[in-house]
Amino acid sequence: MLVLVINCGSSSVKYNLIDTSDERNLCKGLVERIGAVTSIVKHEPEGQRHTKSTRTIANHSEALQEIMSYLLDPDNQIIESPSDIKAVGHRVVHGGEMFKDSVLIDDDVTKAIEQAFDLAPLHNPPNLRGIQAAQKNLPDIPHVAVFDTAFHHSLPNKAFLYGIPNRLYRRYKIRKYGFHGTSHYFVSRQYYKETGEKAQDTKVITCHLGNGASIAAVDGGKSVDTSMGFTPLSGLVMGTRSGDIDPSILFYLIEKEELTLANVHALLNRHSGLLGVSGYASDMRDLIEEADNGDRRCQQAIDLFCYKIKQYIGSYIATMNGCDAIIFTAGIGENAPLIRQESLAGMDYLGIEVDEEKNTNAERGTVQKISTDSSKTDVYVIPTNEELVIAIDTAKIAQAADQSPWV
Ligand code: AMP
Repeated sequence: MLVLVINCGSSSVKYNLIDTSDERNLCKGLVERIGAVTSIVKHEPEGQRHTKSTRTIANHSEALQEIMSYLLDPDNQIIESPSDIKAVGHRVVHGGEMFKDSVLIDDDVTKAIEQAFDLAPLHNPPNLRGIQAAQKNLPDIPHVAVFDTAFHHSLPNKAFLYGIPNRLYRRYKIRKYGFHGTSHYFVSRQYYKETGEKAQDTKVITCHLGNGASIAAVDGGKSVDTSMGFTPLSGLVMGTRSGDIDPSILFYLIEKEELTLANVHALLNRHSGLLGVSGYASDMRDLIEEADNGDRRCQQAIDLFCYKIKQYIGSYIATMNGCDAIIFTAGIGENAPLIRQESLAGMDYLGIEVDEEKNTNAERGTVQKISTDSSKTDVYVIPTNEELVIAIDTAKIAQAADQSPWV
């Protein structure tokens, strides 16, 4: 089944056209800087020339029109008619407590995504705008929402409750939700597939290290804890996000610097993390390069990043009472041997040994085992594919909807 996967940010639309029958990505692309004078449009058809151009794209609906006209252009030979696309899968960041699984989008689902605006003000509003734009452009096929939070619905109470009055959980649903669920799900499944291990018998720790970063403890195939929380701000130090900090720092700063709520939000989400600590960049490639040139603050940012990863891994080994495999994925996890090495250095007490040569030479874009043969815990690099998870879920739900109006 041909599924169009859509991932909308506030000024961007990312798309993938995936054939779920052979899991092939036929085309992917990105419309960026929507609403600006010059928007950037990239299309990357499989096995054909990639294109990049600029034009004015006023809103998400125009971005969808641009994507459809590219896919339908006879010169590009991707699809012949809009009806070749059988369903659209949408990445939705926050499903709140309501959505434990992917769902067919109807008016009730749209309302529930809207109700979760408060919980993810940066993500859910553009996600919904993308849904509405895609529904306008492709009105006659099923649209499915796939939630970043869904995989973490299996967290037990002790992992998702915060130490605040329970009434606040009941009234406002303040709890840990966790994010990057499709990625943690995908790489853990790839690990079972690759090794033949049975999900129910294994404990794995999945490290999704990209601009946003999170770690999950997956026991018996289910997420039992994860580093992100009520929002994607907590946990690890990230590109521009602070990760965990003592909440009292906020009271202190609000008073000392006379910060507004908006200032605090921007400080922790956009000016902190690797960027804030290094005072130089949020991009790990730049930090590694400058640290190599002797920049002390870039080195401090890298050290802090790896230290937090090590702390989370250690705590999840403790809470799961063991770990069969640690998996690295996403931009940094897949491409930065230095970060993998540093994060796991000095963990021989727990029996974790990275093979330096395998780690350094790990071929990109493929599943690689990078631990020594004597390591008690295996260490893997596994490329993530969140879009494929969304496409497969979407195809399943679209097929079911085709057979029954009650899906
Ligand atoms: P993502 O959000 O998954 O696209 O990951 C983006 C992050 O991956 C950025 O911090 C990039 O610097 C980092 N990244 C990508 N390629 C490399 C590389 N070869 N070495 C180090 N970091 C990389």
